[in-house]
Amino acid sequence: MVLDAAREPLRLAELPDPAPEPGQVLLRVLACGVCRTDLHIVDGDLTEPKLPLVPGHQIVGEVLRGGSRFEPGARVGVPWLGWTCGECRYCLAERENLCDRARFTGYDLDGGYAELVVADERFCFRVPDAYADEQAAPLLCAGLIGYRSLRLAGDAESIGLYGFGASAHIVCQVAVAQGRRVFAGTRVGDDETQEFARSLGAVWAGDALAGPPEELDAVIVFAPVGDLVPAALRHVRKGGAVVCAGIHMSDIPSFPYELLWGERVIRSVANLTRADGGEFLALAPTVPVRTEVETFPLEQANEALDRLRAGALRGAAVLVP
Ligand SMILES: [Zn+2]
Ligand SMILES: [Zn+2]
Repeated sequence: MVLDAAREPLRLAELPDPAPEPGQVLLRVLACGVCRTDLHIVDGDLTEPKLPLVPGHQIVGEVLRGGSRFEPGARVGVPWLGWTCGECRYCLAERENLCDRARFTGYDLDGGYAELVVADERFCFRVPDAYADEQAAPLLCAGLIGYRSLRLAGDAESIGLYGFGASAHIVCQVAVAQGRRVFAGTRVGDDETQEFARSLGAVWAGDALAGPPEELDAVIVFAPVGDLVPAALRHVRKGGAVVCAGIHMSDIPSFPYELLWGERVIRSVANLTRADGGEFLALAPTVPVRTEVETFPLEQANEALDRLRAGALRGAAVLVP
């Protein structure tokens, strides 16, 4: 499925089989998760994709050939971080997620809305055996970057997850297993999602803008809604953190300094490191994290994106070729 230009539907196309270069593996795609970032690319919020582009960066695939790290038949995952330079100040400081020249799967590189894909083997992960293909796909971005966001929220005992979609439904399970209390914020009146959050262990679920009945230690904002940032600041205690987990957000409205005062912190989370991936994929089966997915045939990628845009998904959408 090919993106020719922003704000146009993806086009079903027959492309030449990609050939792996040295250090790359050729994968048969088994499943590919749909991420909100894909929606930001298709909708033109992220303005510099390679075009035409095959989107998709939560790829579970079977190694056909290429590279030396994985045997043919191995099941591997390909995440958003597709390549880094290894020599900039960020790469050298173990912050490869911030690499100046990073290339991203399904943005700078063709991704997994396809039957075949090539990937740099150094950036692939082994997929834990405990997961079926379509269950594993959302771990690769929703799970992985969600986990990074949780880590950057510090040792919060009470934590808000605002925007309870693919990422939050995974992070909720990890946070609960770590003994934290989770407060799930959704759109006003979204009873179904609030019920879903409670079923995953959230102690409270309600309208994110209004906030929970007590002060929180931290809030992770997953929804791409700038209004949630001052709202979340209002909901965290002194010294608390508001972590913005998405790659794009509508403008954050101005707010009185008083909301930030008291050493409250606002920060973003950008991309992932391979260390995050290794850590999270080892942790997920021990929780155990269970992913709720809605599968779509590959050629229905546009429908899956529409459902995500409308907030009509429970958990994560996954494309299956
Ligand atoms: Zn670099
Ligand atoms: Zn993603």
